[in-house]
Amino acid sequence: HMPTAELQALDAAHHMHPFTTNDELAEKGARIITRAKGVYLTDSEGNEILDGMAGLWCVNIGYGRQEMADVAARQMLELNYYNTFFMTSHVPAIALAKEIASLAPGDLNHVFFAGSGSEANDTNIRMVRTYWAMKGKPEKSHIISRKNAYHGSSMGSGSLGGMSYMHEQGGMPIPGIHHINQPDWWVEGGDLTPEAFGLARAQELEAKILELGADNVAAFIGEPIQGAGGVIVPPSTYWPEIQRICDKYNVLIIADEVICGFGRTGSWFGSETMGIKPHIMTIAKGLSSGYQPIGGSIVCEEIAQTIGSGEFNHGYTYSGHPVCSAVALENLRIMQDENILDHVNNVAAPALKEGLAKLAEHPLVGTVNVAGLMASLPLSPRKETRSKFAGDAGTVGYMCRERCFANNLVMRHVGDRMIISPPLVITPEEIKVFMTRATKALDETYTAVKE
Ligand code: PLP
Repeated sequence: HMPTAELQALDAAHHMHPFTTNDELAEKGARIITRAKGVYLTDSEGNEILDGMAGLWCVNIGYGRQEMADVAARQMLELNYYNTFFMTSHVPAIALAKEIASLAPGDLNHVFFAGSGSEANDTNIRMVRTYWAMKGKPEKSHIISRKNAYHGSSMGSGSLGGMSYMHEQGGMPIPGIHHINQPDWWVEGGDLTPEAFGLARAQELEAKILELGADNVAAFIGEPIQGAGGVIVPPSTYWPEIQRICDKYNVLIIADEVICGFGRTGSWFGSETMGIKPHIMTIAKGLSSGYQPIGGSIVCEEIAQTIGSGEFNHGYTYSGHPVCSAVALENLRIMQDENILDHVNNVAAPALKEGLAKLAEHPLVGTVNVAGLMASLPLSPRKETRSKFAGDAGTVGYMCRERCFANNLVMRHVGDRMIISPPLVITPEEIKVFMTRATKALDETYTAVKE
């Protein structure tokens, strides 16, 4: 390929990046990833970078697997595209829907396919509103979500999300979407115990339902464990109380499993890890391990039958795309044949936990939040008091991310929290490499912060 500097100049000149400024691209130049295998990325300078984020929380089975490429090639030659509109279907979509239904808990046994998590969450908004309208309750249309949540970037899913800096651009949220606070004990728990705080935050849902009127509230949406907002593992009291409130007021639960789904928390779905009984689950990312773009909504029997009793005027050209479906099916086969959930629970997660416990002793690390193979390290100048750094939030986190990158490690930051979500196939030896590089990056950040 061209020299790195030329690629970077072309990238800055012609390629608009998500969540990036032109100045950043022009001044520093993007790091250009040229290939990847297992848990390692290679950049255009030949550096081998350990990917502690599995891309964007998605490459669960690791990079560069021959079986996935073979299935994609075979499917492209057999049937590269057909749709599932107007009474047509095809084998890959049927097989994948059946497989997902067999893995999903309870009576979540129908799948509406989309091309991404954002599209799937847009489907969910229309689906729950249509469901209640078909039940004779069109006014039951409001959806309650949470501040600082991420559910995608389209107008619907971005509105479900609670990132205020996203809402400032382009006229979000759309009407009828409301946001309550997160169960983020580390930042907002004050003097409460985590359990008391979790209960109080869940009860904000009840207050919001009563404010809007239960007859006006269609659904609550939340990630079992919030990912992009900072890997917030809720206190044990939180989800049982949310479930009680939703049951009491007949409010549907949408569990956004885009990150938590497909093994990330040690179960097939984060809802199982957290004991949630959702009516709809949003899936994407780990469904195909990022080998092809595909997402969807897994829908319970009652909603699927109700929606299907009329015509749901909704669908995407690539809903159930045959190549994406075949690749996702192969991903699920690999996860099962290689017992990847067992590997997470018995090998990788214990090794990660042990390594993170050591990192927790670092003077810059406030605490460790971890569930399966998703974790965060909130940084703090004084862990005893859960203090924040002086100055703009996120400055130290950004600095640490850059030090990680310089040490050939991808660890993302959300504000001043460092985020970890490696491929699920990561080995204990690779976790040791992760810890060595992370410690070095933390040491360098600590030195810079002190100066
Ligand atoms: N939901 C959650 C919880 C996510 O983390 C994401 C993406 O990070 C999305 C939805 C949106 O998915 P996509 O980027 O595939 O549209």
